[in-house]
Amino acid sequence: APAPLTLLGLGAMGTALAEAWLAAGHPLTVWNRTAARAEPLAAKGADVAGTAAGAVAANRLVVVCLLDDESVEEALAGAELAGKDVVNLVTSTPGVARARAAWVTGRGARYLDGGIMAVPPMIGVPTAGGYVFYSGSSELFEEHRAVLAAPAGTRYVGEDAGFAALHDVALLSAMYGMFAGVAHAFAVVRGEEVDPAALAPLLSSWLTAMTGSVAATAEQLVAGDYTKGVVSNLAMQVAGVPTFLRTAEEQGVSTELLTPYFDLMKRRLAADARNGAEDLTGVVDLLRA
Ligand code: NDP
Repeated sequence: APAPLTLLGLGAMGTALAEAWLAAGHPLTVWNRTAARAEPLAAKGADVAGTAAGAVAANRLVVVCLLDDESVEEALAGAELAGKDVVNLVTSTPGVARARAAWVTGRGARYLDGGIMAVPPMIGVPTAGGYVFYSGSSELFEEHRAVLAAPAGTRYVGEDAGFAALHDVALLSAMYGMFAGVAHAFAVVRGEEVDPAALAPLLSSWLTAMTGSVAATAEQLVAGDYTKGVVSNLAMQVAGVPTFLRTAEEQGVSTELLTPYFDLMKRRLAADARNGAEDLTGVVDLLRA
């Protein structure tokens, strides 16, 4: 029979998770600060607890999906955690996750941190490709694997409670780099007779084609050789920078999103002319320095 669990937090994400667990037949106890948000779930079979402490007491497995780390501390402060299995799905930094892990385990519970790689409509939809990074107690993860897998895919990334957040934030940070590039591209064509809707498929297929660079970068980092398999060398790419900056200028577009990256490329080349034979992997080291 599907295992029972408790869920604290019925915001957009918490509600989607709750519906997925109920749909999969898991007995579910929920709590939310604003009680009205639990009503539709009660109608679908959830037990509604009046307090966070009461919800925690109801089941061994306690999933937390509140706004931020402060709200987690606030909600769990009055609860008896000894013997509980706490799964914290709140997006945080690796450091905050490690501190929360110490706080929870110090009160006698096991701890698993999660980083959700999905938006609410992807929850409970196996074909949507959403998943959750998990890190922390591997025993907790193994024991509750089936429950955790009901709303979305699962990827356990290690005993270090900070690793789920580390992976989550790394992926989301790369996403913002992509969003920045897309914003600049649309700005460049804006004002011309280019239909944004016609540019969109060209832009997305170009970005898709360029994702091969991710694996290539990893290979070079692992090999410690940034000239391995170079297709577009850094010297050539730096020589092309003025074309990008002048095009922006001609189009009346700010270069503020482009220049930080171009400056790093130029610094890598300026540090040693031999770096001109690399591609862009040297930027990774400049960021860490
Ligand atoms: P919402 O803003 O929709 O909901 C926030 C929830 O936190 C509500 O249940 C709210 O209760 C509760 N809350 C806020 N402050 C407190 C507090 N001080 N004490 C108790 N409860 C509190 O957020 P989401 O559901 O979208 O997000 C929840 C978590 O999931 C976040 O960490 C977010 O980063 C993560 N996440 C969300 C994604 C998304 O696309 N939505 C994607 C990936 C991760 P109340 O109803 O009373 O206000």
